[in-house]
Amino acid sequence: NQPLAIITGSSSGVGLYAAKALLARKWRLILAVRDPQKMELAAKAHQFDSSQYEIWQLDLGNLDSVRAFVKRFNDSGQKLNALLCNAATYLPLLKEPARSPQGFEISVATNYFGHYVLSRMLLENLIQTAKAHEHARLITLGTVTANSEEFGGKVPIPAPADIGALEGLMAGFKAPIAMINGKPFKPGKAYKDSKLCNMVMNRELQKRYHASTGVIFNTLYPGCVAETALFRDTPPLFQKIFPWFQKNITKGYVSQELAGDRVAQVVADPHFTQSGVHWSWGNRNSAIREPFAQELSMKAKSEKLSKDLWEITAKLVGMP
Ligand code: NDP
Repeated sequence: NQPLAIITGSSSGVGLYAAKALLARKWRLILAVRDPQKMELAAKAHQFDSSQYEIWQLDLGNLDSVRAFVKRFNDSGQKLNALLCNAATYLPLLKEPARSPQGFEISVATNYFGHYVLSRMLLENLIQTAKAHEHARLITLGTVTANSEEFGGKVPIPAPADIGALEGLMAGFKAPIAMINGKPFKPGKAYKDSKLCNMVMNRELQKRYHASTGVIFNTLYPGCVAETALFRDTPPLFQKIFPWFQKNITKGYVSQELAGDRVAQVVADPHFTQSGVHWSWGNRNSAIREPFAQELSMKAKSEKLSKDLWEITAKLVGMP
């Protein structure tokens, strides 16, 4: 009777180390990844016990792939204890917006739309688990750079997250529109905006479903994991300096092991049963830091914004 989690984007970085930490807690895992071969190599390199995991293909940037993944899972008849929405793409050097097969800007399509559809389609399974009084959590990675309540969320490179009044989504979010607020394309900001949407989506999930179902909905910021592949498309000099800067100047740096363990705590551990929280360990990190509920910006907490975002996203991805 091992609990089961689905983890998106576990082939590297935080997701890989979160998988490792959950396996150590004796969880069973479905590793939902874009590249199964890469995942297999990573699992072998980290000596994952092959009886504890399965690798399933999932491209979050393609809504057909998300729907096929959920169908496969539902057909398998398994009970889900946790969905961990971890995968993300960050493409700060794009000159022109890249598009998903459905025609949406790719960072928002992958990081936000893909997880929105996955979360909503797997929710009924989590609700049934919670109804049976078993562990049922939906956990999503947020980030400091998308939260203007914090210093890291105010950095104007290339601009702070700002989804405006969702003008770009309201206008259909297809070419030439590439930003949620309908303004000119800024690839680094598209990532931040998508992560802000992840955090706003969690608030709406909490509002709609927590009290009536008992499913726990949280986001978290595990610290600045400056050495992951997330930064693979940044300039080489940035990739050299950024970890040093985070270790020595901001002290925000955390190792992939520590970040992965923090994620596993929020997914699995008994003292994370409060729902509707954005968990953080702060920005000046050390292994002994205690987690706390981090406030989100006023904008992210706006009830109207989260309702509007939920509804317009549903329309764009073809859900009721
Ligand atoms: P990585 O790049 O190491 O991991 C991202 C994962 O997402 C990879 O496994 C990648 O797969 C996967 N992925 C990307 N695109 C898709 C897709 N279309 N479909 C399925 N999977 C996809 O970065 P991190 O570990 O740093 O990031 C993990 C999460 O942590 C993200 O949500 C990020 O926003 C968040 N985060 C990271 C921080 C940091 O400092 N690194 C700080 C705060 C939050 P592939 O290997 O095939 O590309």
